[in-house]
Amino acid sequence: MKQRYLFIDRDGTLIEEPLDEQIDSFAKLRFVPSVFRNLSFIQRHLDFKLVMVSNQDGLGTSAFPEEHFWPVQNFVIETLKGEGIAFDDILIDRHFPRDGSPMRKPETGMVEKYIKDAAVDMAHSYVIGDRESDAQLANNMGCKSLILRKDGMTWDKIAEILFAGERIAEIRRTTKETDVYVRLNLDGSGKSDVSTGIGFFDHMLEQIGHHGMIDITVHTKGDLYVDEHHTIEDTGLALGECILKALGDKRGIERYGFCLPMDDCLCRIALDFGGRPWLVWDAEFKREKIGEMPTEMFFHFFKSLSDAAKMNLNIKAEGTNEHHKIEGIFKALAHSLKMAVRRDINHFYLPSSKGML
Ligand SMILES: [Mg+2]
Repeated sequence: MKQRYLFIDRDGTLIEEPLDEQIDSFAKLRFVPSVFRNLSFIQRHLDFKLVMVSNQDGLGTSAFPEEHFWPVQNFVIETLKGEGIAFDDILIDRHFPRDGSPMRKPETGMVEKYIKDAAVDMAHSYVIGDRESDAQLANNMGCKSLILRKDGMTWDKIAEILFAGERIAEIRRTTKETDVYVRLNLDGSGKSDVSTGIGFFDHMLEQIGHHGMIDITVHTKGDLYVDEHHTIEDTGLALGECILKALGDKRGIERYGFCLPMDDCLCRIALDFGGRPWLVWDAEFKREKIGEMPTEMFFHFFKSLSDAAKMNLNIKAEGTNEHHKIEGIFKALAHSLKMAVRRDINHFYLPSSKGML
């Protein structure tokens, strides 16, 4: 079996990078939060080998004397080793950016031997860093990248993704009536890119992303010249299907979500990713439309969603302002989703006594 590697940047990734970008004294040394716990977990449970890959501009020149670098570097390595974290190889480039060296990241000179080694599983290896140039290095090497702080990436998330895989899924659902594209990242940061042709519906779907900390893309082109029905229904089906696909085998998830919030309205959603669809809908709307969205389609959307995602969805809402009420329902759904899809890698079992969900 081929060997997988983690090519790990040092400054800004293992230790915090100071404003002057040079860690040349112990006074500037801070470890990045939760790096020990997670790298130690990765070394204990996963089959990656670790390689440190670091640019240290001008190391060995008067701008950055060796004697300022090595005591800190050795302390970092020894401290990590004390927690069971050992690097197989340590690669340091000393060029300045202006030198245009093929060795300096994001160029691949330092890691050339790994690229050429047929025993390396490069496609399933990662660069872990904190800058765009680290992502660029991964591109140049033909491996993947995980960039700290980008889209809310943390060491906890890195360990989770390396252990349990990414939870990203895409669905394209095309019929004579609609063409729906949905992409979800359940471990995202709440970014949304939604266009269905129905402004109010877009606004509601964006709530799922923002409040659920889910990256959500929904592009629906529907037969709005007929009415809004197919567009809303098929978007619900594709979204539900995409949630189910992104959840994968559901190992480690909380499974249940429950919520009760929102202004003058009380909106309560309980959900269970138990593998069976069911919808309880207890919400009354008196207006015919909110924005250009027919209120009779609310039930239909949640029914489609719960059918396709194979989840129990129990929705109750009361209150007077109808805009608040439906917005409250979508926000409650988002929070319930966030709770239910949360994973805990330290309790990585299937939350079911049946053995499957
Ligand atoms: Mg860095």
